[in-house]
Amino acid sequence: MADAFQLNISRELAERIGRHGAETFPHECCGALLGRDEARDGKAGKAGETPWREVRELFPLVNRRDDSPRNRFAVTAEDVLEAEKAARKHGLDVVGWYHSHPDHPARPSQFDREHAWPWYSYIIVSVMSGEPADMTSWRLNDDRQDYSPERIEIPKRAAV
Ligand SMILES: [Zn+2]
Repeated sequence: MADAFQLNISRELAERIGRHGAETFPHECCGALLGRDEARDGKAGKAGETPWREVRELFPLVNRRDDSPRNRFAVTAEDVLEAEKAARKHGLDVVGWYHSHPDHPARPSQFDREHAWPWYSYIIVSVMSGEPADMTSWRLNDDRQDYSPERIEIPKRAAV
């Protein structure tokens, strides 16, 4: 049974993801989430403690899929290398990926689940008629059969 995951992200970065989705509308945007993980292996935290991670920076990617850019995104091995290089520059790790769902709800599709990797956080922002709407995050379960929702915690401006 998966714990309730929590992803901390500043309002500014959350808004940047929404803006990226609005810019590429009606196509999907995608990018990497750079940040830090507390209790990285899931065991370092105390029993009963909720594992959480924090997004500190974004690394926008080019959607390389030209066959169906409206409803699927693909992260290539090259993207992963570039994102990891960018993360190291900031002293951070690649903790996940984000993409948009143009005119679709912020729910992982079958394609998303089949192309996701365990451990990473996947933020989805719904962009309806060109305007950023709901944002959700989820993680693939270790058995790769299903995913767990991840709570997005956006601190108040003053706390950033
Ligand atoms: Zn998707």
